Amino acid sequence: MAQINTKCLIIGSGPAGYTAAIYASRANMAPIVLEGPAPGGQLTTTTEVENFPGYPKGITGPQLMDDLRAQAQRFDADLRQGIATAVDFSKRPFAVTVNGSDTVLADTVIIATGASARYLGLPDEQKYLGMGVSACATCDGFFYRNRTVAVVGGGDTACEEALYLASLAEKVYLIVRKPYLRASKVMQQRVFDNPKIQILFNTNTLGLFGDEVVEGAHLVEYAGTDKEDKFDISIDGFFLAIGHKPNTDVFRGQIELDDAGFIVLKGNSSATSVPGVFAAGDVADTVYQQAVVAAGMGCRAALDAERFMLEYPL
Ligand code: NDP
Repeated sequence: MAQINTKCLIIGSGPAGYTAAIYASRANMAPIVLEGPAPGGQLTTTTEVENFPGYPKGITGPQLMDDLRAQAQRFDADLRQGIATAVDFSKRPFAVTVNGSDTVLADTVIIATGASARYLGLPDEQKYLGMGVSACATCDGFFYRNRTVAVVGGGDTACEEALYLASLAEKVYLIVRKPYLRASKVMQQRVFDNPKIQILFNTNTLGLFGDEVVEGAHLVEYAGTDKEDKFDISIDGFFLAIGHKPNTDVFRGQIELDDAGFIVLKGNSSATSVPGVFAAGDVADTVYQQAVVAAGMGCRAALDAERFMLEYPL
């Protein structure tokens, strides 16, 4: 079992983690970055990113993350594969167990573990996971060329996934529980203008069916009203795009989380309830959840960690 010490441990490798790494490295903190189960984070499963400043023609999510990673490496951030499996924030240096065996002792910690896709909670989602059920259109869309798929959700992610899938599939149902989309106007318009996408408003999913793989979905329109109507659609793929849950299970009981599991920040800073532990990005953002905001939060967390080290050196 190996044990290493660092002035700054950054847990997570999305825009927040890599930006924190760039700033902490340039501040001579020689940070270690635990890249986690999905290096690069959620953007590696995105197609085109059109709203990250500095890319007038847009950039793919994976390329943006490769660039951020390379920028962190340029300043000698120590990027390591590994997952934080336990933490002890009761005293400094903070102890973080990696992959259940190795230990990192860190003077400061920046948590940037992001968020993961939500599922509806239907037993059929587990039954058909990887057999027609997916939460990542860019990962799995290829398998549905010229087929029929459904996307659940009415936000920007759902619209983006529906549009991406429409470029491959023959038909895309967008299953929206409300009578309107929550997505930005520009995304809504693209969805409305796409003849391959059929929006099913006021509709919820009751279950899936099929021999071994998904062949269809049981839906209900206007559930619980006198207009309630249950019907089935034939589909080959069922994509979830109903938001994300913060990746904070390992920190439960160690720092303050809100009811939804997001890390609570102190005032106008990146400080958590534990002095010396900071947080950045979607794991602590209940409002914006944008790559550029996560990057900005990563910058703030690294600056806060640097100042904390000056004030409270070990
Ligand atoms: P959102 O929280 O914005 O939207 C989630 C959607 O899923 C809503 O339509 C919601 O319905 C629906 N939903 C939630 N739970 C259920 C359920 N149990 N059953 C059925 N439907 C459900 O999440 P997104 O992931 O879409 O977006 C998160 C953030 O990321 C947003 O700020 C968004 O703007 C941003 N984003 C920006 C992109 C871009 O600009 N290119 C791309 C992707 C995301 P309801 O409305 O009824 O609550």
